[in-house]
Amino acid sequence: MTTRAGRPADPSAPVDLRAKVVVLDIEGTTSPAGFVVDTLYPYSRARFASWIEAHRDDGELRRALADVERLAGVPAGDVTAVVRALDRWLDADEKVTPLKTVQGQIWDAGFAAGELTAPFFPDVAPALRAWAASGARLLVYSSGSVAAQRAYVTHSGEGDLSVLVSGFFDTRTAGPKREADSYRTIARTAGADGADLAFLSDRREELDAARAAGWATVGVCRPGEPYAAAGVGDHPRVASFAQIRFTPEPASRHPGPPARSRPPR
Ligand SMILES: [Mg+2]
Repeated sequence: MTTRAGRPADPSAPVDLRAKVVVLDIEGTTSPAGFVVDTLYPYSRARFASWIEAHRDDGELRRALADVERLAGVPAGDVTAVVRALDRWLDADEKVTPLKTVQGQIWDAGFAAGELTAPFFPDVAPALRAWAASGARLLVYSSGSVAAQRAYVTHSGEGDLSVLVSGFFDTRTAGPKREADSYRTIARTAGADGADLAFLSDRREELDAARAAGWATVGVCRPGEPYAAAGVGDHPRVASFAQIRFTPEPASRHPGPPARSRPPR
């Protein structure tokens, strides 16, 4: 989707990124958002009832079901009503924590069984490997539950990427993605200053919140993704991780010239 009106900045230009800790959004950033809606959502919807019946003695699931009952005003133990509430939240794409918990468990099992494989854009795994090899720490912050995130990066189409990721955050452990305090929580948990961290996301509101916490930001606008056309405001912007020139030091440290990108032969 290109426009000939005006002369926008070159969307393929390199973008410098300096950070010790890179925090990644998943949907629309590392991976096509459509996979969640087109594949993962129907997969979980088809299994809510059978999963709850089979695992209702599991402690985490029991707590999630109690949360559903409380939030949806459902009688305790009414599985049919709980499933109806989960379906309704799924239809509305509401980021309700107990929905994410139940989905995360179902997806985890699906990935482990080899019924699901997580797609990543082809530029992502090479960039993550290079950034990790250069000494950066990589974290994931997604609205999907931590269990779902871990399963996702472990069972990727590019192999097990979980070996590159040293931590996962969701809306339960960090808070909502559009609030600066969530990014402060992640920084504190990671033992890092805001200036050490960078967030990569396709949503301007999330990038705004990260920047308000003192983080560096890169907006990821991949053609065809749901929020690409909305842009990322005044955040530095790429269409591919291959455009990012990464240095594993925060901007304030003035580390000198970057290392050569390719060793001499
Ligand atoms: Mg996203």
